[in-house]
Amino acid sequence: MYRFTLPRDLYYGKDALEALKTIKGKKAIIVLGGGSMKKFGFVDKVVSYLNEVGIETQLFEGVEPDPSVETVMKGAEAMRDFEPDLIVAMGGGSPIDAAKAMWAFYEYPEVTFEQLITPFSFPELRQKARFIAIPSTSGTATEVTAFSVITDYQKGIKYPLADFNITPDVAIVDPALAETMPAKLVAHTGMDALTHAIEAYVSTLHTTFTDPLALKAIDIVDRKLTKSFDGDMEAREEMHYGQCLAGMAFSNALLGIVHSMAHKTGAAFSTGHITHGLANAMYLPYVIKYNSKVEEAAERYADIAKSIGITAESTTEYVDKLRARIVELNDYMGIPNTLKEFGIIEEEFNEKIDAIAENAVGDACTGSNPRAIDPATMKKLFTCIYYGIEVDF
Ligand code: FE
Repeated sequence: MYRFTLPRDLYYGKDALEALKTIKGKKAIIVLGGGSMKKFGFVDKVVSYLNEVGIETQLFEGVEPDPSVETVMKGAEAMRDFEPDLIVAMGGGSPIDAAKAMWAFYEYPEVTFEQLITPFSFPELRQKARFIAIPSTSGTATEVTAFSVITDYQKGIKYPLADFNITPDVAIVDPALAETMPAKLVAHTGMDALTHAIEAYVSTLHTTFTDPLALKAIDIVDRKLTKSFDGDMEAREEMHYGQCLAGMAFSNALLGIVHSMAHKTGAAFSTGHITHGLANAMYLPYVIKYNSKVEEAAERYADIAKSIGITAESTTEYVDKLRARIVELNDYMGIPNTLKEFGIIEEEFNEKIDAIAENAVGDACTGSNPRAIDPATMKKLFTCIYYGIEVDF
């Protein structure tokens, strides 16, 4: 038996934020990030729409990028004090991810992170509150997924939480919020969305229900991402929906080793953070080459290529042209195609790569990748990405 879970309601389109006027409840806590939602007037709108229908509101502000355990605990405490029956999380992936974890600790104060990290082992949520997610970036799709990533900075661990209990009840995908993104964020989050869709399509857990969502998302990214990057707001709107479709696919089909590798390299080097979407964009063409040694995966990559209008004589040619298309997107948006070009120091790379490769193999996303990998091969793959060497193993 399989399960396919999405939010019960998804509001989208111009002024979708006004859907809040149809929500029933008494008290809403609004979880926010760094302040851009306030600056652009969206917080005022949310508060006034909720107040209009008699819902009392309280803000929980300042969730940092890569939200910490401390922030989650502070938020859960604020929720226990205020006792909301609605949690409204608005902004990029971080405030929404943090709010999902706060929700669990609000409803179950005695639970620990260690207990929550076993996938699909959450206690039954919705005992106290329902969850509304309103994304302002077009990539993570956390508004429709069963995932949240929380960082324990003291232990240096990222807790990937995965459970359909934290799939939001309502997602509001309003394109006006995505208009506030700077171009670089459009590029990185857009490539994250493309990676979600491609990895979900070739995942060992892909299904008849996830495939069409993934293909449509890829089609939208292929046609709209560079336009959105250039400031075309109609394309930006389509991308906001496309990334959401990708999220619906990967929340139910899971991901692959591009994500494993991005997770374990994000904060690994002293030269600075490798943004999640940028890491995915760099690694994706190499991983496609690696995975395409498995015939079934190669055929699925060829399916993707065909679906976006690529023509070729053989499966191999389809796969190569799909990889070239991804590199073309990267080049257009100024995303490097090697770790060396990104600025990782060779000595540091050599020093750390064994541990990184081992960690990446152990990542939660590795299990659904269409081709198995061991630490030694993972190291070889990373080495290809560092120098820009063609993957031939
Ligand atoms: Fe991602």
